[in-house]
Amino acid sequence: MNHELWNHVVDIFSPPTWLCPVCGAGTLIFVDKSYRSEPDSNTRRGWGHESWDPSCDSGYFSCLLRCANAKCEEPVLVAGRYKTDEVPDQQYGSLAKQIQYPVSLIPPPSIISIPDCCPSAIADIIKISFSLYWMDPGAAANKLRLAIERYLDYKKIRKTGRNRKDWLTTHHRIIDLGKYSDKNKDKSDILLAIKWIGNTGSHNELSRKDVLDAYEMLEHVLALEFSPKNSQIQALAKKINKKKGPVKP
Ligand SMILES: [Zn+2]
Repeated sequence: MNHELWNHVVDIFSPPTWLCPVCGAGTLIFVDKSYRSEPDSNTRRGWGHESWDPSCDSGYFSCLLRCANAKCEEPVLVAGRYKTDEVPDQQYGSLAKQIQYPVSLIPPPSIISIPDCCPSAIADIIKISFSLYWMDPGAAANKLRLAIERYLDYKKIRKTGRNRKDWLTTHHRIIDLGKYSDKNKDKSDILLAIKWIGNTGSHNELSRKDVLDAYEMLEHVLALEFSPKNSQIQALAKKINKKKGPVKP
């Protein structure tokens, strides 16, 4: 996972190499002449003021991206805020340039890969988080916490205590997961870390880096649990260990 792809600030005319959310094969490219921007009321009020200069310009933008895969060409609508900053220019020394801060991508690119075998109860929640990430990273982290609960359900980790009346906390259930095997202990440690980030998202401001860390850890757990390649490698290792030597095809 490349954190650089998911910065808050984006040059939307030359977007990061986001993969198409539909085909997953083509990258998204800017659609010529699709950019529209509108100054906000604060900028409009400042226009007549003597101290106003172009760097005070801010407002809202929208534009289209499109999948470069000729068999797909899915459009993605981007909307958000812009601010204006001075950037170096060879001819004029510097120029005022609009810098984009997307708050909505429809449909949103996938921030992490979700294995095909991942149950939809887990995958659907993670996909919702991809939309929320742009507008409210803390809300995205909360969805990742919910995805963990769905994962614990999938692993059949009990939700109630022995008397079947008291509900167990997510924290307790994650610890329980780790008791089953060493493999589950590794996952349990990672899920606990994601849960702490999700908790912080409920109460305080989270940085985008914190949320991207949570995504990266969740992607690792999903790959361990659901990636066919991993289970093939584990099966191969099991065979070799049993034979104490290479296995013939
Ligand atoms: Zn596509």
